[in-house]
Amino acid sequence: MQAELAPRKKTRPIRVGPVTIGGDHPIVVQSMTITDTRDVEETAAQCEALADVGCEMVRVAVVDDEAARALGKIKERIRLPLIADIHFNYRHALTAIEQGVDKVRINPGNIGGEEKFLEVIRRLRDAGMPARIGVNAGSLAMDLVEKYGYPTSDALVESAMRYLEVCDREGYTDFVVSLKSSSVPMTVQAYRKFAALETGVPLHIGVTEAGDPAYGAVKSAAGLGGLLVDGIGDTLRVSLLGDPTLEIPVAFDILKATGRRVINPEIVACPSCGRIEIDLERIVAEVKERLGTSKLPIVVSVLGCVVNGPGEAREADIGIAAGRGFGMLFKKGVMVRKLKEDEMVDALVEEIGRMEAEADTA
Ligand code: SF4
Repeated sequence: MQAELAPRKKTRPIRVGPVTIGGDHPIVVQSMTITDTRDVEETAAQCEALADVGCEMVRVAVVDDEAARALGKIKERIRLPLIADIHFNYRHALTAIEQGVDKVRINPGNIGGEEKFLEVIRRLRDAGMPARIGVNAGSLAMDLVEKYGYPTSDALVESAMRYLEVCDREGYTDFVVSLKSSSVPMTVQAYRKFAALETGVPLHIGVTEAGDPAYGAVKSAAGLGGLLVDGIGDTLRVSLLGDPTLEIPVAFDILKATGRRVINPEIVACPSCGRIEIDLERIVAEVKERLGTSKLPIVVSVLGCVVNGPGEAREADIGIAAGRGFGMLFKKGVMVRKLKEDEMVDALVEEIGRMEAEADTA
């Protein structure tokens, strides 16, 4: 399956604190706090909660000058690279730079015109600080809206290219770009068209305003999945309503499902059907729980009967193909043991434990 994965689009690496976005570096998972940034302790606590679940960089909303001046104190209290999210007032970007954040996200479409964008870019360049230039369908320049009639993927790309040219003239290259909309087709088309221009600029991918956790996860997977398979995307955020820590496992699951970044076992289970002869739901739930902390990037398949079971199990790194009250344990395509139903979970988990130990000593 991995053989079908397109190579990553070539982009230049951008350092954000200790993390690198782009080049051959792993696709970085990021999120955004929902606390009032002026509340330093609460915001820092949420940043730390995000770090605990695997988030790799965090963005905070800079709503006013007080929030901008809180950034340095937040940065002192957290482990993750800190990104200042700026809309409307370019002065907040200048304060964020002075506060020594790790990256600034600006939306050039709403900070008051090219002169102000230029001033921010020059200050970023002089401070050696990276940025995200975030183009958004909701804040396109008026002439582009007039030209295209309404926001389109072409309008998003044209808008991004304008800002790129400004950065180019100023000698500033230390940035990533995003081209977001709440429409999956528009978002996907915009990123594909931008990637085809081969600018070398790393891409932050995401579907904005994705929705409540259940639908937002589906919408993000629909938008980001195709891009990742195409090799597009160097950092991503899954945008879900509510607790941002919920975004992180969804982001890693999208990376895992697309084969772009696998940091723990992928458990493949059949949906089950009238042919099922074992309690597959219980077995899969138990396997998932017992592998909860495993960091082994392998495919584990648990199939309910002999129709597809042996074939699928052979494709996986390790797997069980069940029959009537028994199962066959396959490892790297070879059947290693026949098991009773009540032995399956223990045998599978023990075997994976051995694989983990082997990987640790390799
Ligand atoms: S593997 Fe067997 S039990 Fe599972 S869905 Fe396929 S046919 Fe049904």
